Amino acid sequence: MKILVTGGAGYIGSHTVRLLLERGHEVWVYDNLSTGHRAAVPAEILLTGELSELHRLDHVLMEKRIAAVVHFAASTYVGESMTDPARYYRNNLVNTLNLMECLRRQGIGRFVFSSTATTFGTPERVPITEDEPQRPINPYGNTKLAVERALADYARAYGWGYAALRYFNAAGASPSGDIGEDHDPETHLIPLVIWAAMGRRPHIEIFGTDYPTPDGTCIRDYIHVDDLASAHILALERLEPGKGLCYNLGIGRGYSVREVIKAVEAVTGKPVPVKEGPRRPGDPASLVASCDKIQRELGWKPKHADLKSIVETAWNWHREHPKGFKK
Ligand code: UDP
Repeated sequence: MKILVTGGAGYIGSHTVRLLLERGHEVWVYDNLSTGHRAAVPAEILLTGELSELHRLDHVLMEKRIAAVVHFAASTYVGESMTDPARYYRNNLVNTLNLMECLRRQGIGRFVFSSTATTFGTPERVPITEDEPQRPINPYGNTKLAVERALADYARAYGWGYAALRYFNAAGASPSGDIGEDHDPETHLIPLVIWAAMGRRPHIEIFGTDYPTPDGTCIRDYIHVDDLASAHILALERLEPGKGLCYNLGIGRGYSVREVIKAVEAVTGKPVPVKEGPRRPGDPASLVASCDKIQRELGWKPKHADLKSIVETAWNWHREHPKGFKK
């Protein structure tokens, strides 16, 4: 299939692009490289451009005879979305709706969308199933949910086949060792703990030790980026006109911040200096996916079903690329 991947030079995008190519799809990456990395994708498939350039998008969709779009390009920091919501509504909602208009003009109705566990806000029940009410508590989650709703309406009215994949905590790196996580600024727990183990940061600060969890720190469901990527491919290949495939994507098991720190110490063999700090506003105590639905319906199964194996691939990447893609 001929596929356009927006944001394909980013962290999850680049791992998905690699898998799509391995599956024999024809892939074009559309990325403005604001957070993505040129080195993360083969040069011959990279088209640099803004999502707001609609004529360009129309042209690319037509010229490359695109049959489906996998849409990663977005702003993704919860904290930033609280202080600069306009950026999130523009990048994540307006630009996505415009992209969807381009698809309509070109008669393309296949769309795989990067959604997020953040659309569930503070869940009533954990593990979180797809039936859990989606009530986001920040602008990032609001924009992602708005697109999910639009896609459901497009499926009903225009017969689109779409998937909305709600990621829990993406982590790890390709075992091949040449692509991995490289954010600026980095805010995610696993890379920051690894940096503390490497001495690149003086310590890791634990955001809150008084949560109602067994060790007082937040629990998250960390999923390997290649397992996220494989879910995109399964969903893409199973899209059906008029139908939405909505799945929660984690490994179905949660780990606390302290457990993550212990796993990094075990994998790296280095002690991690820790500082206990206050809670970070907006963090729910526990977010764990129920991944039964995608396992049942698409036969998806995580290859990295435990934290150690996820941390090992991340450590391998950071050790070999201490400056990320700049090395
Ligand atoms: N966290 C932490 N210290 C940090 C970064 C994150 O204690 O320097 C905690 C954070 O409060 C959350 C978990 O680690 O409970 C995962 O945070 P991350 O930012 O990686 O992902 P999120 O769950 O916010 O999407």
